[in-house]
Amino acid sequence: MKKKLIIAIDGPAGSGKSSTAKAFAKYLNIPYIDTGAMYRALTLKVMILNIPFKNVKQIVSLFKKTKIDLKGRDPLKQKVFLDGKDVSKAIREPELTKNVFHVAQEALIRREMVKRQRQLGKTNGAVMEGRDIGTMVFPKADYKFYFEAKPEVRARRRQRELLATGKKVSMAEVMKDIQKRDKTDIERKEGALRPAKDAIRLDTSELTIPQTIDKMTALMKPSHVRAVNS
Ligand code: C5P
Repeated sequence: MKKKLIIAIDGPAGSGKSSTAKAFAKYLNIPYIDTGAMYRALTLKVMILNIPFKNVKQIVSLFKKTKIDLKGRDPLKQKVFLDGKDVSKAIREPELTKNVFHVAQEALIRREMVKRQRQLGKTNGAVMEGRDIGTMVFPKADYKFYFEAKPEVRARRRQRELLATGKKVSMAEVMKDIQKRDKTDIERKEGALRPAKDAIRLDTSELTIPQTIDKMTALMKPSHVRAVNS
């Protein structure tokens, strides 16, 4: 029987988490779970319904009735569905990105999110990426990685991502946005961005995705890599 591996990848925006996590999940042939997409989808729903972000209890009960699905076997082509509707593009809009922190900073909302993320991961294992996977969602994950990269590298990656979706943004603007997000991610009371004590820290500034994956697999038990990959 395949072992249900949980691989946690945390780190700030632009640290290379998403692209590596997707490729790694594909390589290991296990599900890819993008927890940021879940916070984004809930934020989108709150915005569509015009609910003030301060109405935390209302948002929690709304969330309990909300379906968020990550669909598609190929992690590289995964789509995000909110109550059955494909919102993969809408959740990446810069306006939405600016608002996610309102939802992500609330402990009551995070607790519900964490419950759902655990449920998702438990079923078939996962490469799960986010900010608090190794510290809160799966503190006993089989492997915990914490990605970092130089600020200018992170900003360049983020700028490229935005350009790919047709949005031209200056480096200065991207830098400012990243710094603001880092601050709110690091300073929130629950589920703050920080490496778990036993996380393996990787600086991806000078690494390609295959090189990053090589480093990760080199740190894993060969039987774990084979058990899930065969
Ligand atoms: O990873 P991504 O940038 O898509 O995440 C969007 C936002 O969701 C982040 O800026 C962060 O504030 C929040 N988030 C979080 N906890 C996670 C994943 C994302 O608070 N596990």
